[in-house]
Amino acid sequence: MAGLKDYVNSKVGENREQIEHHVKEILRLIGEDVDREGLKETPARVTRMYEEIFGGYEVDPRDVLGVTFDEAHEELVIVKDITYYSLCEHHMAPFFGKVHIGYIPSGQVAGLSKLARLVEAVTRRLQVQERVTSEIADIMEEVLKPHGVMVVVEGEHLCMCSRGVKKPGSKTVTMSTRGSFKDDAAQRAEFLSLIKQ
Ligand SMILES: [Zn+2]
Repeated sequence: MAGLKDYVNSKVGENREQIEHHVKEILRLIGEDVDREGLKETPARVTRMYEEIFGGYEVDPRDVLGVTFDEAHEELVIVKDITYYSLCEHHMAPFFGKVHIGYIPSGQVAGLSKLARLVEAVTRRLQVQERVTSEIADIMEEVLKPHGVMVVVEGEHLCMCSRGVKKPGSKTVTMSTRGSFKDDAAQRAEFLSLIKQ
């Protein structure tokens, strides 16, 4: 399977000239001199950046997890500190941080690198942190059918989102649980203590 690095947003590629044009227009409309040296290449650079950070639209996150192995292991598996970079859908401002995924397999496990790819596929598009968290949990549940899944996402947001003015350096933490994690406080506590180490 091709890696996500090989995926670029082809819509951006198809519409490159128009996107560059509109970025240039925004620069002009905010009062910039679009012909000054530092800005000459900016519309093209922004467009190339969009190809990459919106590459998630080219991938069905379910396919990324697709290859699984039958394993007898039925105890907690954790992949922690998966870094991500996304843009909030309200302001198109960056938010970024780490994802921690824990699950209890019931026969199928995903290759560890596949979980990182899943995170990329879900975050390289316009998002909100809450949906990043629940989508990862839902897809894990749907594809691997584990006994339980728990996802914790930490995010630093460079925008002033709906829940009040964010102080620089403050973090938003979101959590989703499915299956056995929902009703087992000890399981949740074990996961949280292991991701803190
Ligand atoms: Zn925002």
